[in-house]
Amino acid sequence: MEGTQSRFKRICVFCGSSSGKKPTYQSAAVELGQELVERSIDLVYGGGSVGLMGLVSQAVHDGGRHVLGVIPRTLMTVEITGESVGEVKPVSDMHQRKAEMARQADAFIALPGGYGTLEELLEVITWAQLGIHRKPVGLLNVDGYYNSLLSFIDKAVDEGFVSPTARRIIVSAPTAKALVRQLEEYVPEYDEITSQLVWEDVDRRSYVAESEIAT
Ligand code: AMP
Repeated sequence: MEGTQSRFKRICVFCGSSSGKKPTYQSAAVELGQELVERSIDLVYGGGSVGLMGLVSQAVHDGGRHVLGVIPRTLMTVEITGESVGEVKPVSDMHQRKAEMARQADAFIALPGGYGTLEELLEVITWAQLGIHRKPVGLLNVDGYYNSLLSFIDKAVDEGFVSPTARRIIVSAPTAKALVRQLEEYVPEYDEITSQLVWEDVDRRSYVAESEIAT
């Protein structure tokens, strides 16, 4: 059933290239895809059909929404990544992939995953902290998978390494429905100093200008 209005046109999903051991991880990937469809939101992701990446992209594609897979040419073999559904955008490397996914999306969601997912998630959080973009970042905390990461970040706040404002960049919820609802309501906050940074003037050598990521 389509129709719920969303402020987002396209969401970037980071997730495991593995499926995880519990079926709840796999059903969460499908439910997230269906939630995007219900809200008429398109998907951008890392391309391919392996693991949770394949499940979320298939669900969005099956629901009739646009799927954009951004994939480094080196990974574009069926043995590594499988077949992608929807549109595939080949890029030259992993850095360009992240910049392109960030540019295309209005918000980010991380499902359970491993190193790749963590790296992508933490990078977009860091970019939000520095005011490079103002897009919401959501953590789909399926079955408490991310509890220990969230506890660690709370410790980083207690120990003075993450500001309370920066802590609030991460929106987390146990279900896709609750998470997308919270992301719709998210209002970005910034530490006073970072809010004054002007990224357009800083790094002209970037793969994609920060102004394009920012929107
Ligand atoms: P991981 O969480 O370590 O499984 O890595 C998942 C993330 O890393 C994805 O969002 C992709 O961007 C990237 N990635 C890792 N392995 C693959 C693969 N075989 N095919 C495509 N992307 C991958």
